[in-house]
Amino acid sequence: MEGMGRKIDAVIEMRVDDEALVARITGRYTCGNCGEVYHDDTKPTKVAGVCDVCGSTDLRRRADDNEESLKTRLLEYYKKTSPLIGYYYALHMLSTVDGLAEMDEVSAAITAVLDKRASNS
Ligand SMILES: [Zn+2]
Repeated sequence: MEGMGRKIDAVIEMRVDDEALVARITGRYTCGNCGEVYHDDTKPTKVAGVCDVCGSTDLRRRADDNEESLKTRLLEYYKKTSPLIGYYYALHMLSTVDGLAEMDEVSAAITAVLDKRASNS
């Protein structure tokens, strides 16, 4: 970053519960015809196997959304990225937001962190 003439002001960790993340991602599927997104727990189709929007039965799950590949990705995160969390925490640059909140809540939390940083510097 410094090579680009920029420095890091704030580091935001989006904290998620692993089990909740796995459930959220592996339950996701989309309509191959219109692209509508569904979820086993939070937003199932009204009629099993049929898209609510367009009536297509071409409902698809991403191959890399399965539980095994997700756990591999999480493990990679813990090995490579999580040591940085402790590093930035020690520098008082780390803020943590709830990564499983609703999208607008997550973005509001991130905006609040950045506004606070901007007013402190
Ligand atoms: Zn559809």
